Amino acid sequence: MFRLDEQTQMVATMVRQWCQSQLAPKIPALEAGTEMPFDLMKKMAKAFGFDAMLGASVQKRIAKLRAGEVAGDAEKTLSAGVGNPMMMHVVVKELSRVSPGFAMGFGVSMGLAGGAIVSKGTADQVERWGLPLTTLQKIGAWCLTEPGAGSDAFGSMRTTAVPDASGGYVLKGSKTFITNGPGADVFLVYAKIERGEDSGVATFIVERTMQGVSVGPPFKKMGMRDSPTSEVFFDDVRLGVEHLLGGKEKGRGGRTDTKDSLGSERSGVPAMAWGIIERCYDASLAYVRERKQFGRAIGEFQAVQLHITDLFLKLRTVENVVYRTAWMQQNGVRDMPFVNASKAMCAQMAVDAALKAIQIHGGYGYMEELGIEKLARDAKLLELGAGTTDINLLACARELIGIEA
Ligand SMILES: Cc1cc2nc3c(=O)[nH]c(=O)nc-3n(C[C@H](O)[C@H](O)[C@H](O)COP(=O)(O)OP(=O)(O)OC[C@H]3O[C@@H](n4cnc5c(N)ncnc54)[C@H](O)[C@@H]3O)c2cc1C
Repeated sequence: MFRLDEQTQMVATMVRQWCQSQLAPKIPALEAGTEMPFDLMKKMAKAFGFDAMLGASVQKRIAKLRAGEVAGDAEKTLSAGVGNPMMMHVVVKELSRVSPGFAMGFGVSMGLAGGAIVSKGTADQVERWGLPLTTLQKIGAWCLTEPGAGSDAFGSMRTTAVPDASGGYVLKGSKTFITNGPGADVFLVYAKIERGEDSGVATFIVERTMQGVSVGPPFKKMGMRDSPTSEVFFDDVRLGVEHLLGGKEKGRGGRTDTKDSLGSERSGVPAMAWGIIERCYDASLAYVRERKQFGRAIGEFQAVQLHITDLFLKLRTVENVVYRTAWMQQNGVRDMPFVNASKAMCAQMAVDAALKAIQIHGGYGYMEELGIEKLARDAKLLELGAGTTDINLLACARELIGIEA
């Protein structure tokens, strides 16, 4: 259970090599925004055959949907495609050692946008949009947050879908802080159905090329600079019913679909934290052995030793969370309090570990060259995205106590 099987270990080694040879050299251009990460994501999917493996798995699901069989959830479909859930976490971990932003963009496109369509879509929707997203032929974005609706995503939502005479909808509104926004081909958009009374939230699949869709320029950010983020605008976008995820309105059930996606987004954060912490630990351990002050390696000073133990404990703790998360996914165990609280804890540990690693490296840790300061900037997003830490912890408590959100 707490050991990677041989195949997963092999993939981890290959992804690490790919990150060193293909991803790391691109970081300066990606961070500066002179290059977008999307072609590199596609290359990576090809290099490891994820496109073919996931494609085959999603095709099987389409066949089952067409035959009217229940096809299991998307997480299982996607993780079965690459071997097992732990394999996906290990890929995210390896990417996050070098570029948490790249891992996030990859996960949002394939797992969050693609996964939601594979999970909740009709056979036609899975074939038309789910397949190209999960195989990275197309890039996806997941659009919930709005300028006035962050933590209160549903209550303050202003984006509306007004039913029209043809049985379709007119989508109007804007979303903000959208990962992959500047380059996405397909947007998964949450909107309130407007019928005069509250008819609930529904999810729409919107293509970049549709009339009335536009995106803002990439935001300038503290971290995750290698993951482009933007606003997305929907100006009276006409959508046929085939764009309504699942093919029918679900009233308040639409919120449950969104919450499922939030759960899967939060389940992916510990693996990102794992990558950040592991890199900080590896770099710090090597540094304290070689860096000399007062005629001795700094690792001989007890204060420094305590920092190393602290990093080691964080590493093992977060690693264990990922193993449990993978076990839950493999066995269909739902434990949202754990998902919410462990996401918050891992995010905080990643921030703490990255700052500690800078401290251990002294002034050199503050310099761009080592890549540690980047991890600290990137790690902070884990405490904000997929719900802020406070919102995650409150959601955990509410579920434990039994209070409805
Ligand atoms: C780089 C980046 C990428 C992102 N990518 C995406 C994406 O792809 N798709 C998407 O939909 N969104 C995305 N987001 C949005 C992200 O999910 C939101 O930023 C997050 O949900 C918080 O919302 P907010 O920023 O509006 O903060 P607010 O909700 O305004 O919160 C501000 C502060 O108030 C606190 N607070 C609010 N309500 C409560 C409460 N009830 N109790 C206690 N404290 C409270 C919060 O914890 C926080 O500290 C991204 C954000 C960033 C920064």
